[in-house]
Amino acid sequence: MYTRHSPVLTCSCCGYRGAMKFLVNYCERDLETVKSPCGYLVHDILQPWGVAYELLQCPSCGTVLLIKIEWHDAWEPEDYIVTVLYPNCPDS
Ligand SMILES: [Zn+2]
Repeated sequence: MYTRHSPVLTCSCCGYRGAMKFLVNYCERDLETVKSPCGYLVHDILQPWGVAYELLQCPSCGTVLLIKIEWHDAWEPEDYIVTVLYPNCPDS
């Protein structure tokens, strides 16, 4: 399952590089509900991979970043694929 970690990122607004302040995260598939063909025998299984999103804040300038994390059970958290989706720089 998804293991939260603090990736080192570079703030595109102020150039700060390091771990960002963690605000909130969302993991879209951790469990999947499985049904039999006739619609009963419902149970949840753990997904071995998925996508998570995190809201982070730059400790230097306060910019909020939205990142996407592609994770897999077989990977170390350091190997997750991290993509910055939304940097929003305050007026400078
Ligand atoms: Zn910054």
